[in-house]
Amino acid sequence: MEALIPVINKLQDVFNTVGADIIQLPQIAVVGTQSSGKSSVLESLVGRDLLPRGTGIVTRRPLILQLVNVDPEDRRKSSEENEPNSWKNERLYKGVDGEEWGKFLHTKNKVYTDFDEIRQEIENETERISGNNKGISDEPIHLKIFSPHVVNLTLVDLPGITKVPVGDQPKDIELQIRELILKYISNPNCIILAVTAANTDMATSEALKVAREVDTDGRRTLAVVTKLDLMDAGTDAMDVLMGRVIPVKLGLIGVVNRSQLDINNKKCVADSIRDEYAFLQKKYPSLANRNGTKYLARTLNRLLMHHIRDCLPELKTRINVLAAQYQSLLGSYGEPVDDKSSTLLQLITKFATEYCNTIEGTAKYIETTELCGGARICYIFHETFGRTLESVDPLGGLTTIDVLTAIRNATGPRPALFVPEVSFELLVKRQVKRLEEPSLRCVELVHEEMQRIIQHCSNYSTQELLRFPKLHDAIVEVVTSLLRKRLPVTNEMVHNLVAIELAYINTKHPDFADACGVMNNNIEEQRRNRMRELPSAVPRDKMAGGAQGEQEGGTGTWRGMLKKGEESQGEDRNKQQSSVPASPQRGHAVNLLDVPVPVARKLSAREQRDCEVIERLIKSYFLIVRKNIQDSVPKAVMHFLVNHVKDSLQSELVGQLYKPALLDDLLTESEDMAQRRNEAADMLKALQRASQVIAEIRETHLW
Ligand code: GDP
Ligand code: MG
Repeated sequence: MEALIPVINKLQDVFNTVGADIIQLPQIAVVGTQSSGKSSVLESLVGRDLLPRGTGIVTRRPLILQLVNVDPEDRRKSSEENEPNSWKNERLYKGVDGEEWGKFLHTKNKVYTDFDEIRQEIENETERISGNNKGISDEPIHLKIFSPHVVNLTLVDLPGITKVPVGDQPKDIELQIRELILKYISNPNCIILAVTAANTDMATSEALKVAREVDTDGRRTLAVVTKLDLMDAGTDAMDVLMGRVIPVKLGLIGVVNRSQLDINNKKCVADSIRDEYAFLQKKYPSLANRNGTKYLARTLNRLLMHHIRDCLPELKTRINVLAAQYQSLLGSYGEPVDDKSSTLLQLITKFATEYCNTIEGTAKYIETTELCGGARICYIFHETFGRTLESVDPLGGLTTIDVLTAIRNATGPRPALFVPEVSFELLVKRQVKRLEEPSLRCVELVHEEMQRIIQHCSNYSTQELLRFPKLHDAIVEVVTSLLRKRLPVTNEMVHNLVAIELAYINTKHPDFADACGVMNNNIEEQRRNRMRELPSAVPRDKMAGGAQGEQEGGTGTWRGMLKKGEESQGEDRNKQQSSVPASPQRGHAVNLLDVPVPVARKLSAREQRDCEVIERLIKSYFLIVRKNIQDSVPKAVMHFLVNHVKDSLQSELVGQLYKPALLDDLLTESEDMAQRRNEAADMLKALQRASQVIAEIRETHLW
């Protein structure tokens, strides 16, 4: 079997890379009646004395014998190399000095270097489970033999077929053994050695009968005829060996194993094989070359080779597929860094570009499940901020009493003749100030969004960054601090935008001019009213109409509505709108209280009218300002925060990170990534070698 060693060892390299389960060498199992020589055949194939043999029922539990080829060279090499190789580690761990040793599954880590001890342990273990009185058990004994002289192969020694129960054996012993045997040999990957002793009737061979049950076309059954030396005088196995008694597709091979006497005399395998050869030459000269243990081994060799050959194409395909997979995996990990400074610059630039692209909406990776980047900023401006501003009530937080108090305070000690302008300014400023908070909130939201984009970019767009966690963190830090730096500037600007509005109440604003006119008219009207001593009800109705007009047409219609006092303009409109009732609270004329405390009370018609005038003006002016703010805050945010960050990001990153002193630190790969790349690279290399090995096997060893 040693001819197989180089091939199997080479394949082992392949197995070590792609997993041993990809190609399985067949198991070789022996079947036959009791004492037909099954254990002896296996043993001569292994070339070592290790199995209990003898007359009567000796093998009473299946023995799964795993041969593991070890390279004696490797022990010397292994201290330097660190190639994964289980048996080698095994030897190192166990400190085994001999070149062959065995291990049982049931004795765990115990190492057996003495083969007599191994045989003894098999016997003990057999007795332990099956008892000492011929009982059998289907629980296998697992034994591994490590040796430079064996091939990686699994041999199965099985109890012999028996008909009549003896000792502790149950009544259905025949059935039990049959089932046990069938369990092993029905595996299509099992080569069956059907052992029949030459001194029994070949035609009724139980071994061949049971083998044929599972291997109907005889592709994996090899007949072995033992005990050629024990044939009755005057008989020979000529007919049997020629296949004339029972034809066996893969052939019939006659062998001579050691007799019980030989065993007792500790005759060694080599001597036995030599004697066997001599016997065959003498007894069956014409068939000597096609019989004997050596020939049996060669035949098995050939069967195994064929099996390997049959597996190779698939194995090769599998290896090529795996190699391609690892190649692309390796590609996805990125190349190891050669030129650190250019890699750093490249990564920084890539991040900066991606960041800007995400804002601009031109990023390669565009979310489809939710808004991101620039689109979210747009949403913040126009939906979140816009709607919040629109929901700010121009007169919110302003009670009639507030208005009235402001008016009265503004007139000082004199009873007011007209509605004082000062009170309007005072109150309108108070209202405008309320726009600041949502504006600042808008800055905050955009800032948050810009922060989110950092994450988005490092997650989706620049995956290479994940290889360098330190660089990733540093970039995040730089961008975060850049954003943080821009925040006060932007807030300041937004604050100023509101402050600017507060700084100067422009009553000459073209859109406000109308409202202004209203006030003047109103004053004039008051005077006229006073002169006519008219009841206050009429102007109040007119006011109410004006309010509705404003709702319909905005500030632009104010003039028409409120100028109703001036007969020259807007008469028809007034008529339509005068039906709207004033609020009941304001509808009754009551005496002014001496002390203007903010308690609910009925207002005089005059007060009520003044309030309404002021409120109307506030509303009109407020809407102008709100429109301004709604327009200018997003512009300010874009300019001071978004665009600024966008424009300075690259230079900021380069300025802070592109420093020779930082190179090594920033480009330290995550251990994980470096390790994964190394593993993938190793795997790829091994696969490529495996592919080469397969090519070599095909060329040199098989045909
Ligand atoms: P098993 O029960 O089928 O495993 O048979 P063993 O291998 O235990 O052999 C039974 C007995 O037959 C042992 O004493 C062997 O020494 C003996 N034996 C096996 N093969 C031969 C052979 O070819 N020639 C001789 N003379 N004895 C053999
Ligand atoms: Mg046996």
